[in-house]
Amino acid sequence: MPQKMKISAPRGTRDLLPEEAPAWERVEAVVRDLSARYAFERIETPIFERIDLFARGLGESSDAVEKEMFRVAGAKGSEEEGSEWALRPEPTAGIVRAYIEHGMHVRPSPLRLWMMGPMFRYARPQAGRYRQFTQWDVEVIGDPGPMVDAELIELAHRFYARVGLRGVVAQLNSIGDATCRPRYREALLAYFTPLAGRLSADSQRRLQVNPLRILDDKELDPELAAGAPKSLDYLCDACRAHFDGLRELLDRLELRYAINHRLVRGLDYYTRSTVEFYVTGREGQQDALGGGGRYDGLIEVLGGQPAPAIGFGLGIDRTVIAAQAQGGRAEPEPSVVAVVSASPEAFAGRLRIATALRDAGVPVRVDGLSRKLGRQLESAVKAGARWALILNDAEGERLTLRDLVSGEQRELALDEVPAALST
Ligand code: AMP
Repeated sequence: MPQKMKISAPRGTRDLLPEEAPAWERVEAVVRDLSARYAFERIETPIFERIDLFARGLGESSDAVEKEMFRVAGAKGSEEEGSEWALRPEPTAGIVRAYIEHGMHVRPSPLRLWMMGPMFRYARPQAGRYRQFTQWDVEVIGDPGPMVDAELIELAHRFYARVGLRGVVAQLNSIGDATCRPRYREALLAYFTPLAGRLSADSQRRLQVNPLRILDDKELDPELAAGAPKSLDYLCDACRAHFDGLRELLDRLELRYAINHRLVRGLDYYTRSTVEFYVTGREGQQDALGGGGRYDGLIEVLGGQPAPAIGFGLGIDRTVIAAQAQGGRAEPEPSVVAVVSASPEAFAGRLRIATALRDAGVPVRVDGLSRKLGRQLESAVKAGARWALILNDAEGERLTLRDLVSGEQRELALDEVPAALST
C-alpha cells in the first residue's frame, strides 16, 4: 500500500471555496463596472518577470525586493540556467515594462489602464497578510495631476462604497520630487543619525540607503516619529502647488482625507502624492485596504521616455474581509433552476431542457444520476436551487415549475419559464 500523503495549501495561500465565491464575484463585478465607467483599458502582464525589473522598478531597498521576492530560477542544464525571475509583488513595474516594450507612449495620452490579478510576497503570513493576494490596479500614464490624483482617490472611495464598506478614509502625503527630496533626505539623516541606537536593525541599515523608509518602520518609536522632519515642510514650489491643488480638489469633491506624515510608501520611485485607504479606527499598518501614488520618475528609470504617472493598487482580499466584518452581505446568488424528471432515466430530455434554458440565460443545474423524482428534488434543495423544473414525460413536453421555497407549483410551457422565474 502506498503511504497516504496529506498535502495542504502552501503557507500564506488560501483556497476560494464555493461558499466564499459570491462575495468575491460581487467585488469583481464592481471592479469591471468601475473600470469601464471610468474609461480604463484592460492590460494583462505575466505573473512573473525578470527579477531585475523589480529590483530597478521598486528599488533595491524596498521590502518587496529585499525580503519578499518569490524567486523563480531557470532550470539547471537549460539555456536559461542562471536566469532569475520573480513572481510579481505588485503590478506597476510589469505594466510600465509593457508600456515601454510596446511603444505605448505613442498612443493617445493620458493612457488609462487597469488590471486585476494575483500578487506574491514572501512575507510572514498573518491575519490579512498573505503570500498570494489579489489586487485591482489602475494606472494613468501621461497626466501630471493633480486632477487625476483626486479622480483616483474619488474612484477608490466609490469602489469601497459600492462593495458595502463604510467609514473608509484616505490618508495622504506628498514626498516631493527629485528637486526637493534630497533636502528632505538630508534633514531625516541629520535627525536620525544621532538617534541610530534607538532604531530597529532594519532602520539602522536603511539610514544611509533610504532614510525615508525609516518612517514606515512599524517598530519606530512613536516619539521619534513625531519629532521627525515632515516632508510637507520641505516641498519645492512645484510640489507644494501640486499638493495644495490636490487638497483643494478633494475638498471640492467633499472627500474625507487625513494627512499622514509617515506615509512614504516604501518604493524608491514614488514622487509627490502618496495615498493609502483604511477603515476608520483600523489604521494599523497591516490593515491598509489599498494604496498608491505618483511615480513620475519610474518610466525613465526603466528605460522609457519620461512621463508623469500615477497608480493605485486596491487589495481585494482585505476589502472582502472588511466588508464581511461590517456585516456587508454578499449579493444574493442568482436563482438556480434544477432540471429534474419524473422518470429517473429521462437523460436526453433533461439535458435538452437544461440547454434550452441556458440559451435563454437561466442558471441551471442538472445531473445525470438515475434517481427517483423525490430524491432529485431533495438533492436540488440541498444544493441551494431556488426552483425545480420537472419533466413530466421523457421529452419534457409537459413541464411543472416548482418553487422550492414555498412548495407551490404549476404547469407551464418551456418558453414561459424565464418570465415565471422573475415573478
Ligand atoms: P501595497 O503596494 O503594499 O500598498 O499594497 C496595496 C494593497 O494590496 C494593500 O493596501 C493591501 O490591501 C494589499 N496587500 C498588500 N500586501 C498584501 C498581502 N501580503 N496580503 C494581502 N493583501 C495585501
